[in-house]
Amino acid sequence: MTNNMQFKASYLSVLVKQLVVVFFLLAAFQSIAYSNNSTTPELSQQDVRALIKSVRTDRLDYLQNKKQITQAYEQSKLKQNDALHLEAAAVYAELLFREEKYEKLDKHLTVYLSNQQLSKQPDVLLLFLESQLKLLSLQKELQKANDVVNQLKTRFSQSTPAEKIIILKAFAYFYTETDELKKTLSVALDGLELAMQNNDIASQGYFYRKIADAYNYLENKEKAITYAKKALIAYQQTQDGLYTAKAYWSLGNVLLEINKPNESLIYLDKALSYFESVNMQKGLSFAQYSIANILYKQENYEDALALATKNIEVAHLAGIGDMKLASMILMLDIYKKQGLLEKADKMNDEVFSMIDDFSRSIYKADYLQKRYQLKRSLNKTDDAFDAMEQMLTFMKKHYEATSETNIKTLQIKFEVKEKEEKILQLEYDKNINELLAKEEYQQKIIWRLSATIAFILVIVSLLLIYKQVLQRKKYYNIALTDYLTSSLNRRGIMQKAAQKLKQSNATIAIVDLDLFKHINDTYGHDVGDSVLKAFARAAQNTLACDDQFGRYGGEEWLFILNTVDKQSVKTTFDSIANTLIDICSEIEGLNNTETITFSAGAAISSSSNRSLEKLIIHADELLYKAKQSGRNQVNVEQP
Ligand code: GH3
Ligand code: MG
Ligand code: MG
Repeated sequence: MTNNMQFKASYLSVLVKQLVVVFFLLAAFQSIAYSNNSTTPELSQQDVRALIKSVRTDRLDYLQNKKQITQAYEQSKLKQNDALHLEAAAVYAELLFREEKYEKLDKHLTVYLSNQQLSKQPDVLLLFLESQLKLLSLQKELQKANDVVNQLKTRFSQSTPAEKIIILKAFAYFYTETDELKKTLSVALDGLELAMQNNDIASQGYFYRKIADAYNYLENKEKAITYAKKALIAYQQTQDGLYTAKAYWSLGNVLLEINKPNESLIYLDKALSYFESVNMQKGLSFAQYSIANILYKQENYEDALALATKNIEVAHLAGIGDMKLASMILMLDIYKKQGLLEKADKMNDEVFSMIDDFSRSIYKADYLQKRYQLKRSLNKTDDAFDAMEQMLTFMKKHYEATSETNIKTLQIKFEVKEKEEKILQLEYDKNINELLAKEEYQQKIIWRLSATIAFILVIVSLLLIYKQVLQRKKYYNIALTDYLTSSLNRRGIMQKAAQKLKQSNATIAIVDLDLFKHINDTYGHDVGDSVLKAFARAAQNTLACDDQFGRYGGEEWLFILNTVDKQSVKTTFDSIANTLIDICSEIEGLNNTETITFSAGAAISSSSNRSLEKLIIHADELLYKAKQSGRNQVNVEQP
């Protein structure tokens, strides 16, 4: 039973997996079909312009965007003489160069370099000429290449800095290819200076690398590493994958030559992965050769041999003689280490038959040195001395170009030194300027922050002060108010009375509730309190707005009436008495038969008597008389 269930479950899971696989295959098939359809949507004129601009300012990689660049070029073809098309065609030329499609590039350049419109776009014309010079140097068409060099030289003085950078790039390439190392160094340093002034990071990287390579061939490894690192830092700020990879390779290569294989491998691996990602055979062959060399140095002979063998084929297909020969030399070195001297000798002879394929004298000399040693160890003396003789010839040739004793070289070297110092100065200035700008910016922020904080402090202080004013007012009011009846208390009403009497005559009256003890005793203190509140309300409701009253003591009240008329005083208190009766009739717990009354003594002030103290004493006396005369009455007296 369980077995059966398990079987069913596993059968189900297999079925589900198969379904999932089928689903993914369908989805993948569909996406391929879709992407095939989706590669052709038209680019707008604006898209083309933006794309070309991004590529030219190194914000897009050529090889990783080759489809779009090709499309931009093809599409803009419809307007043959359009400025944008010519620019796209120049960018496309660089793409063809990077793709190593040299035949196609040759035809492309023939078509466009005869276009009359180009004279109106000097920078685009220079891009075409740069492509042409690079192609001719690569194909060793030196006569034609020299013509282009001369053409560029005549244009140089009238060119803008950006255009000069294009020209110097072309020269640097040409002189590297033709093994003129001092000249390479000189134009590269010129170019670097301009690129720095123009803030053109990618071109800085280009020239740094050319300088690094030149120093490498000149055996100044320390400088080679310094400049290779600068090149890498510059290219890492761009999107130019190919040249970033080349910078990785250059640095890796020098590190390898000074016997730092582990450090080297880090950079070479990075270069290799880019070359693989864009399927660039030339780069692949360079990177693979260096890695094979590392394996050799690590005494991993089998892997080194396999990679070198593979690389001979790759270099051959990519058409790089140097790499093919270098890989063969590496193989014969490995054979030597493995004690397979005959095999090594055979390979050596093979290299010897192709010696003209080496691009540089120093490569030939290095190889011939090895050949001499091998032939000596095999006792083939004639071959050995022949190799030695030839080696000396090529050594001489190399030193003729690079010799320290040559006066001309020394002169150039002096110039180079001067330029290097100038560049160091530029770098220094740039750093200082950046620091200054940073500091200025920080200063600005500090000011802004301080201003903001000060503003906030002022606002908060103002708020606090305002709050304090309100609070003080509140405390002040509380200090002058009677807690039970919310009317003025003794201090409050005394203040008002004094103020009033300073301004004008008025009537000061003292009121005392009649037989109030009896209310308290009969109905309790709470009812007594209610009666006090009722009196305050009755006075409040009755008095005119310029009359005032307050609680003078227990059930005694002080009134200030804005009148000096006896009758009007009486009328006012009559009204209060009536209202009091009404309000008291609503007090809960107070018997309806109970009538609350009060007695009052009122003293009217005069110009001769406006002393509050005296008026109160007088009013008190009048009140006492009222009580004596049977209560519930107002006793008013004019002075
Ligand atoms: P007379 O007509 O002579 O004024 O008689 P009276 O009973 O009103 O006598 P008196 O004015 O001497 O009495 C005042 C009483 O008022 C005494 C006290 O218990 C009471 N009293 C004072 N303050 C308060 C209060 O805040 N609440 C209550 N319920 N009673 C108070
Ligand atoms: Mg009393
Ligand atoms: Mg009383």
